[in-house]
Amino acid sequence: MDSDFCPLAAIATTPNSARMLLPLTRSMGATLWVPSTVNCDGAQVYSGSLKEHLTAIWSEYRGFIFALSTGAVVRLIAPLLNDKSLDPAVVIVDPTGKFIISLCSGHQGGADLLTSLIATELNATPILTGASTSLNLPAIDMLGRPFSWQKGSGDWTRVSAVIARGEAVEVIQEAGSTLWQQHLPSNHPFSFGFRDPLSLYSPKARVWISPTLRHFAPDGEIPKVQWHPRVLWVGIGCSRGTSKNLIQQSIEQTCQRFHLATVAIAGVVSVDLKADEVGLVEFCQALKIPFLTYTVEMLKDIPVPNPSTIVEEEVGTPSVAEAAAILAGEYLLVPKQIFKDETGWVTVAIAQAEKEYIKTIGTLYLVGTGPGSLEQMTPAAKRAVIEADVVIGYKLYLELIEPLKRPGQIIESYLITQERERATRAIELAQWGLKVAVVSSGDCGIYGMAGLVLESLQQEGWDGLVPAIEVFPGISALQAAAARLGAPLMHDFCAVSLSDLLTPWPVIEKRLEAVAGADFVIALYNPRSQNRREPLEKACQILLKYRDQNTPVGIIKAAYRQEEEIILTNLGQMLDTPIDMLTTVIIGNQSTRRHQQWLITPRGYLQQEAKAN
Ligand code: SAH
Repeated sequence: MDSDFCPLAAIATTPNSARMLLPLTRSMGATLWVPSTVNCDGAQVYSGSLKEHLTAIWSEYRGFIFALSTGAVVRLIAPLLNDKSLDPAVVIVDPTGKFIISLCSGHQGGADLLTSLIATELNATPILTGASTSLNLPAIDMLGRPFSWQKGSGDWTRVSAVIARGEAVEVIQEAGSTLWQQHLPSNHPFSFGFRDPLSLYSPKARVWISPTLRHFAPDGEIPKVQWHPRVLWVGIGCSRGTSKNLIQQSIEQTCQRFHLATVAIAGVVSVDLKADEVGLVEFCQALKIPFLTYTVEMLKDIPVPNPSTIVEEEVGTPSVAEAAAILAGEYLLVPKQIFKDETGWVTVAIAQAEKEYIKTIGTLYLVGTGPGSLEQMTPAAKRAVIEADVVIGYKLYLELIEPLKRPGQIIESYLITQERERATRAIELAQWGLKVAVVSSGDCGIYGMAGLVLESLQQEGWDGLVPAIEVFPGISALQAAAARLGAPLMHDFCAVSLSDLLTPWPVIEKRLEAVAGADFVIALYNPRSQNRREPLEKACQILLKYRDQNTPVGIIKAAYRQEEEIILTNLGQMLDTPIDMLTTVIIGNQSTRRHQQWLITPRGYLQQEAKAN
């Protein structure tokens, strides 16, 4: 797990609470600390008082989970707290393990998210007391987090209070993704864009989203805050051996002159001759921003406002700084500025990109959500969905996991046939740097989205690492159906999809022949749709060549969903039962039998005993 609250410490002072927190060491990589009086394998032991220990380790961790009373925790952490932009996440698990409380640094420290994740893991109720959560809104000081926007100056507390009161907030977004705007609840307090000066609308707060650095008067008529998306690409030309200092000063002064926020710089660009220019490389390393270079060939034909014949003669392109900035960012904001000192000269030009640069490496979570009810979804899969910035899936499945949705999360739903669109979109967003969960019902690697996403990545020449991938298994329809029927899959079994949309019918037929002949228990997926009734009829004919018409068949529709239906029948009568695309059909092998309302396929235990006797 890689989040704001990692590395993570869990602290327990009794054997019971240590046992309760122990699972978090594995699932979340937390270090569990206990006093020497508590014996717990897998925990680290501290000596002396908890107060001393906490003081000693406070700066080592970004998150703390306490299994202690709120009073005790408040007293312990009070002297250690500093500022909400710096303090670690603090979460409390109550002694019964039923409630998880986000105590401190809920937004920027990630305590709210951590609380939701622990609550999922321990099957507890999360207690989030931030106002935005109850309004189902993204917290204003977290808005740009997924997109690596940088928080600028402003009165964050007062703007948050205006939002909490449900009063009107004006958002002026001049840069960065507007995806967040499309996923707000219908009763959100924001208005977007510039206002008609004659309108009567009078906002009580304003949010700027822009690379421009604004200075707000402390006693302005309404509170304001500003986010800075990383949209500025700084084009640099310089003489050989120019110092990092001059480069830094030139960029800072240019930003200052044009009222731009330096934190909105996405990266630095230049010509490839400068790829090893020490000052430039050092400057970008210090700021942890990318340094990209272009060939002369790429730069020389870019139209620029200030071409130079001298540069053209020396380098082969009439512009380096302006051309490189335009190539990276498109819209030139700042034309070439020239700076000099005794170490050399620097030219700076700045362009603004349509799309912000996201600093993090994107991740694709390929998640199986199980057959239907949330109870049948693994805690790990739930965690992946909760953690994701974006969740992509088929509309019906997204509705089934709706309770997991976090305020501010981007949820993109698609129609049943739009698998390719889902995969393309998920990959696009993950390549950009977002955490994207692609959900499939059942298991995502069984007639689900996992294969398509991986195949599409392979087609694009994916290196296997970026975006990162994690696959979360789910309970597939055949397991869910089998559980409802008893134990029909106790011996060798297989799954066959009767959908001939992607698989030619002769292939399906050949496989049916083979597995029917080999006496496999068979789970039929996609058995029958309104306009595709024939495959099931043909499948039945094939099966009847090898199996008796009394062979038990279980038909499960919408397992673990509200509309669940279970029908027991046999091969001879199977076609007379209502079967549709929400159904899985399980066909017994030659030894499968029915007992009351249950199906059993013997594994052989009792037969072995009978032989021995
Ligand atoms: N990835 C899914 C399968 C998707 S294919 C999984 O692992 O389960 C879609 C088919 O799965 C449906 O046509 C139906 O045959 C079966 N299916 C999915 N959910 C089901 C459910 N809740 N009950 C019964 N069958 C289901």
